[in-house]
Amino acid sequence: GSTWANVPQGPPAILGITEAFKADSFEKKINLGVGAYRDDKGKPYVLPSVRTAEDNVIKAKLNKEYAGITGVPEFTKAAAVLAYGKDSSALDRLAITQSISGTGALRIGAAFLQRFYPGDKTIYIPNPSWANHKAVFNDAGLKVQQYRYYDKNTIGLDFEGMVADIKAAPKGSIFLFHACAHNPTGVDPTQEQWKEISQVVKEQGHYAFFDMAYQGFASGDTDKDAFALRHFIEQGHDVCLAQSFAKNMGLYGERVGAFSIVGASAEEKKRLDSQIKILVRPLYSNPPIHGARVASEILNTPALYQQWLGEVKEMADRIITMRALLKNNLEKLGSSHDWSHITSQIGMFAYTGLDAASMEKLAKEHSVYATKDGRISVAGITSDNVGRLAEAIYKVKG
Ligand code: PMP
Repeated sequence: GSTWANVPQGPPAILGITEAFKADSFEKKINLGVGAYRDDKGKPYVLPSVRTAEDNVIKAKLNKEYAGITGVPEFTKAAAVLAYGKDSSALDRLAITQSISGTGALRIGAAFLQRFYPGDKTIYIPNPSWANHKAVFNDAGLKVQQYRYYDKNTIGLDFEGMVADIKAAPKGSIFLFHACAHNPTGVDPTQEQWKEISQVVKEQGHYAFFDMAYQGFASGDTDKDAFALRHFIEQGHDVCLAQSFAKNMGLYGERVGAFSIVGASAEEKKRLDSQIKILVRPLYSNPPIHGARVASEILNTPALYQQWLGEVKEMADRIITMRALLKNNLEKLGSSHDWSHITSQIGMFAYTGLDAASMEKLAKEHSVYATKDGRISVAGITSDNVGRLAEAIYKVKG
């Protein structure tokens, strides 16, 4: 028989939604499944600051030599400043490496924890969480458990449940937090709640791993979106962090990200850095250079950096506007439900509270496509389709 006769057929990946959308011939069909920003015409968007930065990089006619194992140093240095803040006490004692976007950063972090974390190699992730978290951590050899996060009755945060689960975990456990714009729910703790979370994590001697895939994309302000991470640092947590530039720079396919881990001292940083290199080398030797050069050009050129901050804010603001329009339209139609969660949630995704049967109806009867869990990508809503979307939701849900 064939060498691979015993390889079973795997289930289809999420691309199912895109395929169903493509197969639908209705002209006004709406795709709310994609996790990428769209402009108000529903088209992929390349930031003007990215276009300029890319032109500059090409004009510089740099060579194509390998980067070092940890990537383009001007990029990682600036990425750390963006995340932790320019005056952060962590900057001198963190080891950082460029990564294959956010996913790669999570995977390097997981591998590092798997190799060196002195406590139990279980990571607690929110319920629900980004669909790939469990697989990334499991494949890197960590066990995965969930802590309470989303309350389907309030379509909001189950703060009491979350704190109770952090308290109940064995001392010294690893906790993953979405730094901002929680995916898939769009539900974030408030700053006051983050302060309490930090306190409880500290009391329990837990270790915090931040996944920051949407810095700037949530509120439109990169500093505000970094509040949780920076507060933890101020409170003395030596965290680790996965950063992605897919969303906030629209560099999706360029795969630009960074993994950093904060040590107790500059001396410790050196040891951490040496082990990150030992870990990355057999994985892919060194990362690709182009996207990191583009991001670096933006982060290190004051005028371009200011322009980029404005463009991130524009993207966040368009999403915030679409949330408000969707809610207003539902109210105008006379919906009997409270839709305030649509505008209180933040980031690319909204958790509508619609169940799987309603989502199926939306697809079958209204050509509105999104995941079964009721998550819609607000980035797929436009001035043009928001009216029809509200009508569809109203017809399905009332
Ligand atoms: N973490 C979260 C929470 C995400 O939503 C995403 C993107 N969907 C990622 C990480 C990683 O994305 P990427 O690898 O494209 O940067």
